[in-house]
Amino acid sequence: MTSVFRFAPSPTGLLHLGHAASAAAVWRGAEAAGGRVLLRIEDIDPVRSKPEFAAAIEEDLAWLGFRWDGPVVRQSERLDLYAAAIAKLDAQGLLYPCRLSRTDIAAAAAPDAARDPDGAVRLPLAGARPSDPDGPPARRLRMAKALATLGGDPLTWREEGVGAIEARPELWGDVVLARKETPTSYHLAVVVDDAAQGVTHVVRGRDLYDATAVHRLLQRLLDLPEPAYRHHPLLLAPDGEKLAKRRGSPSLRSLRAEGWSREDVLRAVGAA
Ligand code: GLU
Repeated sequence: MTSVFRFAPSPTGLLHLGHAASAAAVWRGAEAAGGRVLLRIEDIDPVRSKPEFAAAIEEDLAWLGFRWDGPVVRQSERLDLYAAAIAKLDAQGLLYPCRLSRTDIAAAAAPDAARDPDGAVRLPLAGARPSDPDGPPARRLRMAKALATLGGDPLTWREEGVGAIEARPELWGDVVLARKETPTSYHLAVVVDDAAQGVTHVVRGRDLYDATAVHRLLQRLLDLPEPAYRHHPLLLAPDGEKLAKRRGSPSLRSLRAEGWSREDVLRAVGAA
């Protein structure tokens, strides 16, 4: 069976060296496995995603010499697939509507409230009240019920080069699976698409390591196959922070305009 890898950027800005490092990890992994790479544009955030950033991603990858297989897949064109997965989870009684905004949650949370691995206050939270009880709801997973459906089976994932990792989705609490403005969240879309596209190897940054526990749980609940995972270290700015446009990390195109070659970029990210 041919291995299938994917590169799945969000078009919310121009690619920078961190993306080049990630793309290199994906394409090098596929080369070593004799596999293919798919390009998936994760443009479900209607506010932050921009078509011009998606176009720039394709151009920058082509300039770097990274070629993908088949047509580019755009999550914004696949909302029906995510809605079907939501309906499947709903039919199992695993979802509930939630109108709590971040502010509502912050207002009800004690300073020492349990937090998920991304730092958000973990739900359910006793005493939280929506400030807009008639607004459109998000849909949250009933985490305790979802875990109970596993019937005590251990939930793990295979981290390449490491082995089996215990997945602890409970650390995320009642995660949002559909937002009020889109019928999906990142967690749901990524799991549905990796399965629909036959992805066998997920290579992505270490910042998504903890999210893998939620992804494995959703794969079990939706009866989807389990890919192998590899979370590569993040390329950090000199101050130790994650590279980001908002912190002034230069885009690949500005480096290119300054005269950087493709080889210079690959050397800078340790992939030459
Ligand atoms: N779209 C995500 C990002 O740009 C990556 C998703 C993934 O690789 O699972 O951070």
